[in-house]
Amino acid sequence: MPIRILEPRVAAQIAAGEVIERPASVVKELLENSIDADARDIRVEIREGGRALIRVHDDGMGIPSIEAGLAFQRHATSKISSLEDLDHLQTLGFRGEALASIAAVAQVTLLTHRDGEDVGALLRMVDGREAAHEPYGGATGTVLTVENLFAAMPARLKFLKQPTTEAGLIQQIVTRYALAYPDRRFNLVSDGRLLFQSTGSGKLFDALMRVYGLEMAKQMLPVGNPAGEDVGRPASAIRVSGYVGIPELHRSNRSYITLFVNRRWFQDTSLAYSVIQAYHTWLPTGRYPVGVLFIDVDPAEVDVNVHPTKAEVRFRDAHAVFGAVQRAVREALLAHAPVPQVQTSSETPAPWNTPEQWSVRREALLGAGRSAFPSAQGQYPLTAPDAGVESADLPEVSAAPPLIPLLRVLGQMGATYIVAEGPDGMYLIDQHAAHERILYEQFMAQHARDGLTVQALLEPLVVQVSPQQEPIIAESLEALNEWGIGIEPFGPGSYVVRRVPAILSRGDPQAAIAEILDDLALEANPLDTGREAALVTMICKRAAIKGGQPLAMAEMQELVYQLEACRSPRTCPHGRPTMLYLSAADLAGRFERT
Ligand code: ADP
Ligand code: MG
Repeated sequence: MPIRILEPRVAAQIAAGEVIERPASVVKELLENSIDADARDIRVEIREGGRALIRVHDDGMGIPSIEAGLAFQRHATSKISSLEDLDHLQTLGFRGEALASIAAVAQVTLLTHRDGEDVGALLRMVDGREAAHEPYGGATGTVLTVENLFAAMPARLKFLKQPTTEAGLIQQIVTRYALAYPDRRFNLVSDGRLLFQSTGSGKLFDALMRVYGLEMAKQMLPVGNPAGEDVGRPASAIRVSGYVGIPELHRSNRSYITLFVNRRWFQDTSLAYSVIQAYHTWLPTGRYPVGVLFIDVDPAEVDVNVHPTKAEVRFRDAHAVFGAVQRAVREALLAHAPVPQVQTSSETPAPWNTPEQWSVRREALLGAGRSAFPSAQGQYPLTAPDAGVESADLPEVSAAPPLIPLLRVLGQMGATYIVAEGPDGMYLIDQHAAHERILYEQFMAQHARDGLTVQALLEPLVVQVSPQQEPIIAESLEALNEWGIGIEPFGPGSYVVRRVPAILSRGDPQAAIAEILDDLALEANPLDTGREAALVTMICKRAAIKGGQPLAMAEMQELVYQLEACRSPRTCPHGRPTMLYLSAADLAGRFERT
């Protein structure tokens, strides 16, 4: 084929592919435009995961009616005029590419009314060309509607995921901006259903609560000064603020570490790693912390023009940023949680009643050097300091403090929950989740110390695996053996198991092994670094006491003792809570005893 210049339409579609990869990319670009237009209320509506329709409605300043057509030209922007402007960039957009790109791959209708003008403009773009241009009399602001995305590009369409998956990706984008801009109201409706809404109260904690839920938000600690007020310290060149989870709040991958620079979301593996490092040994292996961190630097210190969708940035002094993030996170963790090392004691606790007796026991358990055991309320605030939570929003029962005090078992409920009394209120413990936590920590410690206790099976177990399971199990053989499951290939599609970890030998090892192999095949990334921890979690899940199993008082008290000795007693290895806590003060309040 001879060399030819591409037709403008084809060239535009190819260029658009750089910016607009999927419906979520359209939403990202439109949200950024609304934010740059200083909108306070931004509403996103999608249909069929954004393929059929994406509409972003804002109450921003609008586009001057004579410029409406220009907005769709490539490299047309009102945000910069020279390269130097990038050094003091105050906006999210600057390339003037988004609207042109979107119009190249979809039908677009723009309704806009500039603040202060008598009348606005309606503009319809089909095949990248103006198909209608009329006056528009609606309210100040902009409504952009994008229909039939990629309709003319079957290759792109084929690559899109199920509408619910695409809607999920869109929701992720909207929630990111809601975190970065707590002072704006965001709202996402998918096929008529409200998926997400933020309050626009200006409080980061409110946004955090909307995005992650109250339970998780309550387990997060402020970093720096998230409210954004000055605390009297000299303004440093690199400011870090936000929230990070307490060490007990951890996840199986690093996707819960969200980073922003100058309110712009970005990804950076080494920076995420600096957050993980700040937790140093406080997290179980293979688990990752949760955090939302804002880095604010002089715009000249960061190059945001290194990636087609601006998902990556380059810092002039990456090392300094790395250090600042790590210090800030570490400071937050230390300030709020001098994670105490509990030494287990073998002596049986005496009966106790008074808070004084409790504290004596506590001191004995904690040993010298640390009397600052979290108080009844815990050193982790149950609600963060700037939480604008109305009491109606609080759940009936609040989460327990991070480490648990000594507990006296009162009884069992529904053969599933242990009811216990602490110095400061009532604890309701999920026996299965608690036992999972205990086994997990014991199993890990045993493995690290002197190897696991394994039990040979009287009769070797032959297991058949499906063709889908086969490769995953073949790859995991070494890890399975390492963690006590003695498994070897045994002809096509089958394996033989000769040994199991001792903790599995008590119940029904055959069922347990079958379930573990099933779980393993379901793991998203079995070769991920988190695999070993995930495997141990699976083993412990099968070995743990189930819900619905009646327990004797002595068994329950033993379980509670062991839980008290855990490093992270409040959550099971999957990160779910092991207990609920109702404080004495809460109880008194509820019974109106004043
Ligand atoms: P960029 O955001 O990089 O400038 P875009 O193609 O996204 O480029 O937008 C082009 C121009 O259209 C913007 O510079 C802005 O002036 C205007 N614009 C786009 N969306 C809006 C909006 N929602 N409200 C006001 N102006 C907008
Ligand atoms: Mg833009």
